[in-house]
Amino acid sequence: MNAETMSEAPLLSVRGLTKRYGGRIGCAEVDLDLWPGEVLGIVGESGSGKSTLLACLAGHLEADGGTARYDGRDVLTLPEPERRRLARTDWAFVHQHARDGLRMNVSAGGNVGERLMAGGARHYGDIRATAEDWLARVEIDPARIDDRPSQFSGGMQQRLQIARGLVTGPRLVLMDEPTGGLDVSVQARLLDLLRGLVRRMGLAAIVVTHDIGVVRLLADRLMVMKDGRVVEAGLTDRVLDDPQHGYTQLLVSSVLPT
Ligand code: ADP
Ligand code: MG
Repeated sequence: MNAETMSEAPLLSVRGLTKRYGGRIGCAEVDLDLWPGEVLGIVGESGSGKSTLLACLAGHLEADGGTARYDGRDVLTLPEPERRRLARTDWAFVHQHARDGLRMNVSAGGNVGERLMAGGARHYGDIRATAEDWLARVEIDPARIDDRPSQFSGGMQQRLQIARGLVTGPRLVLMDEPTGGLDVSVQARLLDLLRGLVRRMGLAAIVVTHDIGVVRLLADRLMVMKDGRVVEAGLTDRVLDDPQHGYTQLLVSSVLPT
């Protein structure tokens, strides 16, 4: 990131985001700013509140307090139709489990194409051609356009979910453990692909993971969470190479279970 991009207004500005489950804290008083084209990594061991934070931002969960300003509006209190429009156009969400982000009984091409149609595309030939192009971009053989995701491997399903999310050209992508549950070699390939797409498309992204390797590769900046709260934040290299908080030091040295 350079001084020029820093001087723009943040794309997303979160203050005091809090979510409780009954008496239990999901996440508490989280502040973050995300600039256009920037990738923010959120790390922390299991149960630290990463998914809760992301789900509140995406509108999958209702927050108990705080604000999240995007394009001059608070997305935490958007009326449902506007929230859906945002999810169809400007934002994409990549779930850890591809089946949560795909329609498993619809063809690969249909999964990508229906997002285009939701955005207003009508011409069948164009939609199919764009879907084929996107399959190729996520390294799926376009000849498999009529296959269903259930016929794909886990890594392919995850790549299809990414194609479905990115085909509409969003500005912001929220990813929850995008490489979780995949074999190590498959993870590496997916990470490479994600990094290329994010860079080329100039996407802003929030990547939640318990895997330090993922954020080392993808994130410009890092936020470390523990027990629902942010304990440390900064440039990725600084946080990983010179962690200030004792918890971050443990996390980086892989002493903590993930
Ligand atoms: P992470 O994604 O970092 O593993 P989560 O956001 O899933 O963390 O969880 C944060 C905290 O909220 C944990 O203490 C967890 O047990 C609790 N929690 C998460 N989801 C629920 C739920 N649906 N009901 C009750 N507690 C929950
Ligand atoms: Mg989680």
